[in-house]
Amino acid sequence: MTENCPNCGLPKDICVCKDIAREEQKIEVRTSDRSLGKVMTVIEGLDDEDVDIGSLESKLKSKLACGGTSKEGKIELQGDHTRRIKDVLSELGFEEDSIEVH
Ligand SMILES: [Zn+2]
Repeated sequence: MTENCPNCGLPKDICVCKDIAREEQKIEVRTSDRSLGKVMTVIEGLDDEDVDIGSLESKLKSKLACGGTSKEGKIELQGDHTRRIKDVLSELGFEEDSIEVH
């Protein structure tokens, strides 16, 4: 029995909605000095249905050797990682074109 996609009505194995959603996903990276001059790198626009935010957070923390938190599709890392974040995210399988670093 084949399940149909609720979006397009096609069987799920030929439906491309998820791929389209992934291509349209725009990951935005910016820095914010949230408190007392401590710079945080904020990663937004992650689709939490598609991305395991918690496991992405721990991979980023170990690759960048920093602390951080995540909630509601948003990851905050301690320190300014804007120079390396694109490389690290693309190593983890994200399209470089979909990552915008501000
Ligand atoms: Zn579909």
